[in-house]
Amino acid sequence: MAEKRDYYEVLGVEKNASADDIKKAYRKCAIKYHPDKNPGDKEAEEKFKEAAEAYEVLSDPQKRQRYDQFGFAGMGGASGFSGGGMSMEDIFMRFGDLFEGAGFDINDFIPGAGGRRGGQRVRRGTDLRVRVRLTLEEVAKGVDKKLKIRKLVECQHCNGSGSADGKGGEQCPTCKGTGRVVRTQRGIFGMMQVQQECPTCHGEGKVIKNKCPHCQGEGVVRDEQIVEVHIPAGVADGMILPMQGKGNAAPRGGVPGDLIVIIEEEEHKDFARDGGDLIYNLLLDVPTAILGGQVQIPTLSGDAKITITPGTQPGKVLRMRGKGLPMIDQYGRQYGVGDLLINVGVYIPEHLSQEDKELVEKLRKNNNVAPDSKTDKKSFFHTLFG
Ligand SMILES: [Zn+2]
Ligand SMILES: [Zn+2]
Repeated sequence: MAEKRDYYEVLGVEKNASADDIKKAYRKCAIKYHPDKNPGDKEAEEKFKEAAEAYEVLSDPQKRQRYDQFGFAGMGGASGFSGGGMSMEDIFMRFGDLFEGAGFDINDFIPGAGGRRGGQRVRRGTDLRVRVRLTLEEVAKGVDKKLKIRKLVECQHCNGSGSADGKGGEQCPTCKGTGRVVRTQRGIFGMMQVQQECPTCHGEGKVIKNKCPHCQGEGVVRDEQIVEVHIPAGVADGMILPMQGKGNAAPRGGVPGDLIVIIEEEEHKDFARDGGDLIYNLLLDVPTAILGGQVQIPTLSGDAKITITPGTQPGKVLRMRGKGLPMIDQYGRQYGVGDLLINVGVYIPEHLSQEDKELVEKLRKNNNVAPDSKTDKKSFFHTLFG
């Protein structure tokens, strides 16, 4: 896959561009690379799609904020963001009204849309938000989750058409099916003609006379549904993954909204997390710190044995390469794996029997256990700060 270009760069606007500037910039791009003007030109088609994807994100304040904050990772990366996967049909369905007056008819690009007119509004379902709690084990491998979600789904009785007889809507008498009405209003330069959304059909161009009794003509009903989502390895607390098309169904066969998955990370009993690295606090007993030995430690892939060298000081950090978490870039692609860092401490016993105390007393009398101010102290601080 080719590198994705920054969305602002694609549209040629500044990061602080206004919604209006973005709209204008997109319209310019879209008209320039429009398939009508560039028949058979694959590169133009790619540019056209790239611009539509950038516009899809930057024209939506929520998505734009996520993009500004998290880059492509905020768009879900590998997890279901359209990622340039919008078809020409999707693009015209969503943004067709922007081409009005540019000499193109949106219906040229929508198979089976004959009889519709440009300017009709396609309803979009609303987004849903859901929090998903993950264990570090799940973060390590990525996970498929089945989420039980209460959402708007297509009405089964009318197949989403909203009409009791299944025939769908009839042409709106107010706007004659265009979805728009023209009104004359007084402006600063005199009388002006303004296009408005039709108040009768709310831009859909159709009205339903014989409404489906199960959904009251909406074509959608509220229901509990199991939604499967794939969460890629390496996500972190607070990350936002939009699952395209898995949100609320739209009234009468529009485009469904997104399901916005917000990642929450469960605290782990053994590990703290620092980006891709895991941190484990290991307490050695005094004899093992002095004499060395093997100790067992947990990792996310099961227990492991590590070797403690004789004379290990508290504060030493051991590193197990590749035993951390996958690290993902802003496109959701994995670029590496973190390490497991083991902070070594030494447990000093507090309650000793008389016999034990005598044993330690013997050690105290041994000159060899006293720190050598010239070498030992120095090496200790080296491990801590050097
Ligand atoms: Zn229905
Ligand atoms: Zn109408």
